[in-house]
Amino acid sequence: MNKINVKILLLFFISLTAQAKLAVVTTTTDLKALVSEVGGEWITVDAIAKGTQDPHFIEAKPSYMTKTSHADLVVSIGLDLEVGWLPSILRGARNPKINPGEKGNLEVGPLLDPLEVAQGKISRSKGDVHPFGNPHVNLDPIRMGKAAVFIAERLGQLDPVHMTSFLEKAKALQRRFESKTKIWQTRIDKTKIKKIVTYHKTLTYFFDRFHLENPAILEPKPGIPPTSGHILEVIQVIKDQKIRLVMVENFFDSTVTHRLKEEVPFVRTADIPVDVDGEAQINNLDDLYEKLVQTLEGK
Ligand SMILES: [Zn+2]
Repeated sequence: MNKINVKILLLFFISLTAQAKLAVVTTTTDLKALVSEVGGEWITVDAIAKGTQDPHFIEAKPSYMTKTSHADLVVSIGLDLEVGWLPSILRGARNPKINPGEKGNLEVGPLLDPLEVAQGKISRSKGDVHPFGNPHVNLDPIRMGKAAVFIAERLGQLDPVHMTSFLEKAKALQRRFESKTKIWQTRIDKTKIKKIVTYHKTLTYFFDRFHLENPAILEPKPGIPPTSGHILEVIQVIKDQKIRLVMVENFFDSTVTHRLKEEVPFVRTADIPVDVDGEAQINNLDDLYEKLVQTLEGK
């Protein structure tokens, strides 16, 4: 090999190693956890919403626009979860790479076989209805395993040199969630709990995955706080169906659970995190699912 060729090769390798890390911004901490594990050392990642916040209602702060103005990729759930705030952040970011439809914009929800997709005409009288389906896909470990693979493919399109590494990490995560799901299912079956009341339809995918039912919701309609009349109806359902557990997503007002406990002493109520960082010690999705399973076990 002559000197010039060696020089060109050297320059090529230098340019590869000097390549900037992909800057990824996610809407939620759960997506951040996935991107962080899949992207490893080849990316940087930041989430907009905190794990302790209701992801439907995030303020579109200018600092989020600054954050996304430098992003190579924005990963969101979609299915209208972030409809109240992400569009204004993207507009404010003035970064054409991350606009919807571009390679730098990935919505994972629509790729994950959403549940509760609205049939027929949508009426806002039904509350804050999501016509494209329930957006809380984050609480199903199997769907999140698939999401990791979609994220890996997109990271690989933006940074083809590390495609293999992204895919390997995503497939490993997917296999881990698949095997843990079997163990979680066995543990949930042992609790003999079949029906759970929640505040919002946040756990729909968790219940669907683990064969649990959600016969009543404390919100009379999605996004509408519980009314006295509706709470009475829920109490009746709890009594009639002998429901033993009420799980309240920890960013909602838990005073309603005191009332439930007074009226139905046999019911157990638990405030639960529903996102990574939703509580101390919930550092990744494994911790989050483990916490939910432990809540059923009464731990
Ligand atoms: Zn919701």
